[in-house]
Amino acid sequence: MVISDVTISPMTATRLALDLTVTLRHDGHGGITDDLADPEGLAVWVRERAAPLDCAEPPVTVDEALHTAVRELRAAVRSLFARAVRPGPPSSADAHRLLPEAEAIRRLNAAAALVPTVPRLSWEPDARPTLRLRPAGSPPPADRIVAALARAALTFLDGPDRALLRACPAPRCVRYFVKDHARQEWCTPACGNRARVARHHERRRGARGDAP
Ligand SMILES: [Zn+2]
Repeated sequence: MVISDVTISPMTATRLALDLTVTLRHDGHGGITDDLADPEGLAVWVRERAAPLDCAEPPVTVDEALHTAVRELRAAVRSLFARAVRPGPPSSADAHRLLPEAEAIRRLNAAAALVPTVPRLSWEPDARPTLRLRPAGSPPPADRIVAALARAALTFLDGPDRALLRACPAPRCVRYFVKDHARQEWCTPACGNRARVARHHERRRGARGDAP
């Protein structure tokens, strides 16, 4: 079995961490849907991210233990996202069941520690030296997935993108997103349109209510 290195770029870290949190999303009818509700859902999600999760070869079997581990990790990441967006409000999807911050941090660090890493320098002729992280030993594939997700979240929380994290304030939306530009208010243009329509109706209702 070839174990590739586990170095993760800040951009990939942001993408993976956000992808994990937005698996809990608005279902379009006022409720919440969970892409990781069962192991089959997680298997599809993992297959779509085989490269950054370092699990293409051999393909990973998603069992109940891996499913539970990823969901517990997601709860920890979302709890720390709720802290990161303060003083703004957290996503309403799980605002009522956030983990204590110390427990969320402990969970994240423990998940990352499932795959200890060692630095490895390579220096090809006519190239500059590169430093990569490789797993120490031969961790089981399931541990590699959980640790890769944890490392992504740790890298994101430690990096500059954390300051740009927001919970989308559009009606019914429960997504976290990273602002692309200073004036971005909503996770997507669709949410922006919905929020503007809702504000318009609120103003009209307010105007009618104020009339004698
Ligand atoms: Zn949104």
